[in-house]
This record gives sequence, C-alpha cells and structure tokens, in this order.
Amino acid sequence: MLPKPKKTKDVYLDHAATTYIDKAVLKAMEPYFSKVYGNPSSLYHEGLKANEALNTSRRTIAKFIGALPENIIFTGSGTESDNLAIYGIAKAHLQHGKHIISTPIEHHAVLHPLEDLKKSGWEITYVKVNDKGMVNVDDVIKAIRPDTILISIMSANNEVGAIQPIAEIGRKLLQYRKENKASYPFFHTDACQAAGYLNLDVEKLHVDLMTINASKIYGPKGIGMLYVRRGVAIKPLILGGEQERNLRAGTENIAGIVGFAKALELVQAGKDKETKRLDGLVKYFWDKLQKQIPQVKLNGPEIGPHRLVNNLNVSFAGIEGEALLLYLDEYGVMCSTGSACTVKSLDQSHVLKAMGIPTEQSRGSLRFTFGHCNTKQDIDYIMKYLPLIVEQQRSNKYEKYYT
Ligand SMILES: *Cc1c(COP(=O)(O)O)cnc(C)c1O
Repeated sequence: MLPKPKKTKDVYLDHAATTYIDKAVLKAMEPYFSKVYGNPSSLYHEGLKANEALNTSRRTIAKFIGALPENIIFTGSGTESDNLAIYGIAKAHLQHGKHIISTPIEHHAVLHPLEDLKKSGWEITYVKVNDKGMVNVDDVIKAIRPDTILISIMSANNEVGAIQPIAEIGRKLLQYRKENKASYPFFHTDACQAAGYLNLDVEKLHVDLMTINASKIYGPKGIGMLYVRRGVAIKPLILGGEQERNLRAGTENIAGIVGFAKALELVQAGKDKETKRLDGLVKYFWDKLQKQIPQVKLNGPEIGPHRLVNNLNVSFAGIEGEALLLYLDEYGVMCSTGSACTVKSLDQSHVLKAMGIPTEQSRGSLRFTFGHCNTKQDIDYIMKYLPLIVEQQRSNKYEKYYT
C-alpha cells in the first residue's frame, strides 16, 4: 500500500528547467541592486563603476568560451539569444539566401522563430535525428545548399540529454567553406543545457554563434548572451540606445550580468568534479529503477559520453507521465514531463516524436534532471514511493494499454 503523502522532504529533480541561485552568485550580485546603481552609459563615477562591472563580467564570460569580450552580446534570456541569432542572421544576409538548416529537436526558442521565417518565404531543412536523439554529421553537411545562410543545432537536448557532435559538424563545415571558397553558412549552437557540463570553447567547437543563459547554471533568470564571431554581421531585434555595440538596446541588467559571469565561472571550474558525482547518482537511480520497476525504458542515448550527465528520461509502460508527476509532487518530489515550456499543452513531446518513440511510450515519460542539491538519500527517498505509485497506477489502467 502506498503510504499517505507527508511531504517530509523536498526533492528537486528538474534542474534542466531552472536552478536555484548559488549563494556565491547571489553574494556577487548583491551590491549591484542598490549600492552600485549607476547606468553604465553615464559618464560620472557611479556610471563608471557599473561600466567596470559590465566589462569585468564580459571578460570573464569571454575567457570561458574562448572568445573576445567584444563578441559577446548580453540579452534578456536564452530565448532572446536564440531569436537574435536566427532573425539577426536571416535579416542581415537576405541577399545571400533564405535557407536555414536545423533539427526537429531544438528548443522552441529556435523552432518557433524558424517556423515564423518559413511563413515569410525562408526554407527550413530539419535534419532527422536517430532513435536516440542524435543528429548525423554528414546529414547536416549534405543538407547545405548554395543559398544556406545558417545551421542552428543545439549542443545538448533539454529533454533527453543527447549531446550533439557540434565540434565535428563545425570542422566539416569549415572544410566545406574552404572547398567552396564560401563564408556561408554560419553555425549557431544553443548551449543552454551544455553550459554546466561541456566545454564551451567556440574555437574548438568551430561555431560562429552560441547561446547561453544563466538560469540553468545556478545563476539568475532573465539573463542570456549571444556570442557572435568577429566579422559575422547580424541585425538587432531591439532598437533604442547604443548598448551592446548597437545590437541590443536597453540599459544593461548589471546585477544579472555579474551573476551570470560568477555562475559560469563556478560551474565551469567545478564541472569535472560535479560530472563525476552526478554520474554516480544517475547510475545509482537508473539501476534501482530497472531493478524495482518492471517495464521501464530509457529515452535518449545510453548513459555515457553522448548523454548529459544530469539527465534521466524514462518511460513507464502503461502510465501517464503527467499523473506520475503529480503523485510524486504529493511526496515532495519535483520532476517534469518533457520540457517545462510545453507541459501545459497535451501534445506529445516534439523531441520524443522526432526520435520515433511511439505515443504510448512518450506519454509515460518522465524527465529527472539532477544538480547540486541532490544526494543518494534523495534517490532512496524517491524509491520508497515511486515503485508503489507506478504499481498503483498500473493496476488502475493496465488493461487499457495491454489487452
Ligand atoms: C532553457 C532553455 C532555453 C530558454 O532559455 P530562457 O533563458 O528560459 O529563455 C533555450 N534553449 C534551451 C536548450 C534551454 O534549455
């Protein structure tokens, strides 16, 4: 029998949706709300202090991604950075062509702008992914046409943790451009999920544009950046003042930017140790799930080098993931079905669908994403309830799916 929910404990397992702010990040941000309050564009000392913080943060972030500080544009979110990359390139390179290559598993911050451009005459090729959610390097290169202006492929998927071969695509693209004496297409990657765990060096990845935000790496929400390689022209989305080299108008969010830089510094410095720790936790959890619950399936790549270390996306046969999620919440466990941005619609996850996962399996999927606060005790706690919840749910609904 399932014990009555007591909510004795909160277990947060949705770090891919967002993270709490690291204490050191909050501390770094604190002075920039009321102590150092100037507008960085002002010429008197308060403005200069704010401008100094802006420059220092920009240098810190540039260092971690192997870029020049002047090639970083601060924005209001990961979503805005993705929009700026896509519309910014589309608008600035009209004379060259109107073809863009992407994948069907991108975040909606990429997919929706692409669908919007399609309505205005751009052509979009979505390169297929395999049943693990991986894109094939040669398929991407083969999709290039003389009028292709942009390739946009995420570094790691937010639903199933599939890590895409960005550096390999980048290398082959360089070769393509060399052979064809072309500067097109440009290469953008959405690295929001990758920022805490993978190498972000834009030179090693051979990307021309890269999106990162702070809210997935223990930094504040509502701050993002777009790296744009020197010499790659883009048009701004937001017009007004001359901030961010005329590419993103509006007074800079100094506290957010300072927090973003601190957060990136901390996750990148701690990533090897945290990767090892989370790898242990996720394997421990997956092992228990398989032993204690019949008919569970892993969605996405095998646990290992092609999967984000903090992601476990699992399907429970014969159950609605949504029901499971709500039951787990009764016991204080927070996880997600698919991506946080689409849970309110009943559509099947576009990512699992693109991977060819049958609707029933997709409906029974739950995403657990681990992070700083999680321990082995959290998993032991969940496993006290989850097998019983699954059993109870299946005894109600089993026949519906299996007769
Ligand atoms: C969260 C996320 C975004 C959106 O970032 P916001 O800062 O919430 O706008 C974009 N792409 C990916 C892969 C994400 O995980």
